[in-house]
Amino acid sequence: MSLQQLYQIIPTEVCLSCDVCCRFLNKDSHLAPIFTENETGRLVSKGIDRTLFKEQKDGKSSQITLIPHEDYYICPFFEPETQHCKIYASRPLDCRLYPFTIMFSQDRNSVVLGVDMLCPYSEERYESDSFQQFMRHVIDYVESEDVRSQILENWSLIGEFQDTVKVFHTIRHAIEPFNT
Ligand code: SF4
Ligand code: SF4
Repeated sequence: MSLQQLYQIIPTEVCLSCDVCCRFLNKDSHLAPIFTENETGRLVSKGIDRTLFKEQKDGKSSQITLIPHEDYYICPFFEPETQHCKIYASRPLDCRLYPFTIMFSQDRNSVVLGVDMLCPYSEERYESDSFQQFMRHVIDYVESEDVRSQILENWSLIGEFQDTVKVFHTIRHAIEPFNT
């Protein structure tokens, strides 16, 4: 089943001159990207080493193993010299969504969609009409049947609450599987 298209609002040149994404302070950062079972399978079938992917609690998705670079850690698909992602066309939903993120609410009573204010572009443009309109597109995308089912099957994609994330939507009926 193919996922519907997620458009991007942040201009490429903005991301290429930003140093937030794809880099992590710790080797075991819980923020390292999660790949769904299908995304991992596609990359492995193209020759990517399966041992780079650590299986997650849902038994389907995997988290990438970070590698050291200077005094921090990077995703192994990140090319620091050019700031490019070496698997850009095949990067996971987790990366395609960012700065939007799916996580448990602070009280863990719901699964929510928010925007990470650590992204300088989002922090600056959050109130603008174009950004607000784009947020509605992201809601539609995440709530579409095929994307919802990918997220719920690969539920380790749902991150823990982060207070840097501004929540703007509660994902419908997404918490029930965790309450049974
Ligand atoms: S933090 Fe925002 S602007 Fe910076 S690279 Fe990530 S998505 Fe782009
Ligand atoms: S897969 Fe690509 S976009 Fe995602 S963290 Fe790695 S380098 Fe960055």
